[in-house]
Amino acid sequence: MINIPKGTKDVLPNQSYKWQFIENAARGVARVFNLSEIRTPVFEHTELFKRGVGETTDVVNKEMYTFEDKGGRSVTLKPEGTAGAVRLFIENGLSNSALPVKTYYITPAFRYERPQAGRLREFHQFGIEVFGSKSYATDAEVIFAASSFLEKLGVKARLEINSIGCKSCRAEYNRALKNYFSPHLEKMCATCRSRFDKNPLRILDCKEEGCKKVIAGAPKITDYLCGECAAHFKGVKNLLSAQGLDYTVNPMIVRGLDYYSKTVFEFVSEAIGAQGTVCGGGRYDGLVEELGGQPTPAIGFAAGIERLLLLMENTSAPFPEEDKPLIYIAGLDEKSRDYVFGMVTELRLKGIRAELDHMDRSVKAQFKYADKTGVKYVAVVGEDELKNKTINIKNMSDGTQETVNISEVYSYLVQKENL
Ligand code: ATP
Ligand code: MG
Repeated sequence: MINIPKGTKDVLPNQSYKWQFIENAARGVARVFNLSEIRTPVFEHTELFKRGVGETTDVVNKEMYTFEDKGGRSVTLKPEGTAGAVRLFIENGLSNSALPVKTYYITPAFRYERPQAGRLREFHQFGIEVFGSKSYATDAEVIFAASSFLEKLGVKARLEINSIGCKSCRAEYNRALKNYFSPHLEKMCATCRSRFDKNPLRILDCKEEGCKKVIAGAPKITDYLCGECAAHFKGVKNLLSAQGLDYTVNPMIVRGLDYYSKTVFEFVSEAIGAQGTVCGGGRYDGLVEELGGQPTPAIGFAAGIERLLLLMENTSAPFPEEDKPLIYIAGLDEKSRDYVFGMVTELRLKGIRAELDHMDRSVKAQFKYADKTGVKYVAVVGEDELKNKTINIKNMSDGTQETVNISEVYSYLVQKENL
């Protein structure tokens, strides 16, 4: 017996309706926010993620599924959705279309991490990416899309926002960070020490307890924003407040990827332990150009579907009922069974979720099985029914029975169920 690879999960037949519920909520939100779906390959040239996610990130340094294909090219399974979306935007010349280009995706993503609750090696993301607008209203719109999505799922998560400024304000902030961290550097982790030289901002993202203590006293980016970035951030906050969306400013959020600028945000919940970030995003005005396109401001987010599922299960968020078959028709003997096959097929072609026996069960066992599937109506066909051209349809939820012409089962169901 060969087992599933570590850090991956099956979705079982009696669980997939939960995934569909989340995915439908995502598509519903995307529709009203006027976003169009994009699909990119599961693997890309490794270079795309090195440049697109950033060489100083954990994702690129430690977590990528990278391998050489048979042609000797280095390819990587996508660890996130943004880099591929940006490549798609550039490669297909979408900067020449009407801006902003508003996109969304639902995709698997792969990271070689230590598996634990809410942390997998293959996981799934619903993400949106909007290209071409630098307006703070776009930031607010993207945050609202994330918030409406979580609301649809009945998930309560707190919104934390920050601005990490642009290149010019960050230069000064990085100097302040270096001044602050340099006397503490010896007691900080190796990753932080290497980030100190390459990208001190990323130190703020460290999860080590010892480092976190030092980080708590670090200067705050919000005190270093240039005029333009400060005004942009104020614009975002005003729009969120005006629409009654609660948030807190957390100057420690820098996000895991390198090319963020200005607004960054996370939706966080305490209900699923350490891996509490269910959705993270931000503006990445430099990335399109970095990857070879025309300078194009952009912003997006990604929400982890497994983490949301975990959160919904832990907080008993209401999933809709699993869709059950509407009618089960049992056949008593071979001739009746063949007739039932025709009846059920006809119902299915008309859009009714219908079922029949495939296991040569006795009538009693067929009833027991039908009951287990949660079906609403059950009918039996035998010699008498074939002769009289009528059948009894039993409503399993209230026990009532009605006799119906055998060729009129469909119209009976339509009338009963207001289909
Ligand atoms: P974390 O701090 O939890 O490692 P991250 O900053 O690496 O998160 P992002 O790259 O922003 O995460 O990914 C967006 C979302 O994808 C996360 O908020 C989370 O919900 C989900 N996610 C990220 N990594 C994993 C994983 N290994 N397993 C399951 N979900 C994940
Ligand atoms: Mg991570």
